Amino acid sequence: MLKLPIYLDNSATTPADPRVVDTMVPYFYEHFGNAASRSHPFGWEAEDAVDQARERIGKLIGATDKEIIITSGATEADNLAIKGVYDMYSRKGNHIVTVTTEHKAVLDTCKHLEKQGAQITYLKTDAEGNIDLNELESVVTDKTIMVAVMYANNEIGTIAPIRQIADIAHKKGALMFSDATQAAGKISIDVDRDGIDLMAFTAHKMYGPKGVGALYVRRKNPRVKVTAQMDGGGHERGMRSGTLNVPGIVGFGKAAELAMMEMEIDAARLSVMRDRLENELCKIEESYVNGNRRSRLPHITNISFKYVEGEGLMMAFNQNIAVSSGSACTSASLEPSYVLKALGLGDDLAHSSIRFSLGRFTTDEQIQYTIDHVTKAVNKLRDMSPLWEMFKQGIDLNSIEWAEH
Ligand SMILES: *Cc1c(COP(=O)(O)O)cnc(C)c1O
Repeated sequence: MLKLPIYLDNSATTPADPRVVDTMVPYFYEHFGNAASRSHPFGWEAEDAVDQARERIGKLIGATDKEIIITSGATEADNLAIKGVYDMYSRKGNHIVTVTTEHKAVLDTCKHLEKQGAQITYLKTDAEGNIDLNELESVVTDKTIMVAVMYANNEIGTIAPIRQIADIAHKKGALMFSDATQAAGKISIDVDRDGIDLMAFTAHKMYGPKGVGALYVRRKNPRVKVTAQMDGGGHERGMRSGTLNVPGIVGFGKAAELAMMEMEIDAARLSVMRDRLENELCKIEESYVNGNRRSRLPHITNISFKYVEGEGLMMAFNQNIAVSSGSACTSASLEPSYVLKALGLGDDLAHSSIRFSLGRFTTDEQIQYTIDHVTKAVNKLRDMSPLWEMFKQGIDLNSIEWAEH
């Protein structure tokens, strides 16, 4: 029997892999020591476990253990990277280049710095979420200290040409920072191959625990430094103080190790399921896939169902399918997704979009249920929609003002 509800919101968070939790448990009980306690075996054990985890986390992205700064998640890592570099490299300049479709943890951090005198360039994207590399080249100057572009977008899955972006940044001596939260553990990342100087990622989007993440900070060619945003005992080589979350870090390490081993096979399986879901849902009239279908994550599809409201659709799922909507009230507001709007979608299409994100534990049976259920729900909502009725009758809807949502 199919168990409901079905979870297709793995880009918001993933369930922890049982193998991850198993490795964590001993670090709450027997091995509960503080990794900074240098004078007794409890501390040494914890430190050894953290060292091993750090190595595994680094290995996932082609980095050494010393380049991994543990944080509370990707939000903190984004803050540390951007604020830390802004402060550390103030002699070179005050200019940062980023993109309008970045995560709020990047955009809001940039806005914060703007108030302190930073000059921020927000690049626009095309309709698939790609930036224009020529435009990037034209805005990077000798005063640019950082180019911040996410590895893959969390709403549409579009993957950025990170190496090319990094090369453009490096030509002017700017650092390449990437929020790789959605890509880490899902597709191959190698900080040397990709030319990345700083990179943020988090455990809870790769089957690890919540509340632990990392900032990769390059140590060689060049040696990168960030000013600490959290002062205290000088943990994490002075870049991030605070007692380490040992069980969380151990879990993150295990999650990274599993991702190393299983990423390829997971990606192959998930992209087949995702494509099937997408192809079937695209058989619904007036449905459109958002994002770049040639360069994107294997487990995400974002589809707009015209003449249907995302919120109404979510309601029609009757809590049986957990997904994200382009009109999800992330911040109490009813504004449609700023990412979809940045792609040029009108309010109506942005409001009518749904992100389906699959994960390691998604089954074919769940996908089949979702196809059937969503198709039925869209048809039912359209049957009740006067706009759909007009569309079917060939009335030009562009001549009609859309209602305010
Ligand atoms: C989820 C996410 C974050 C935030 O990560 P937390 O670990 O929850 O703070 C940042 N950036 C992107 C792209 C994300 O998808």
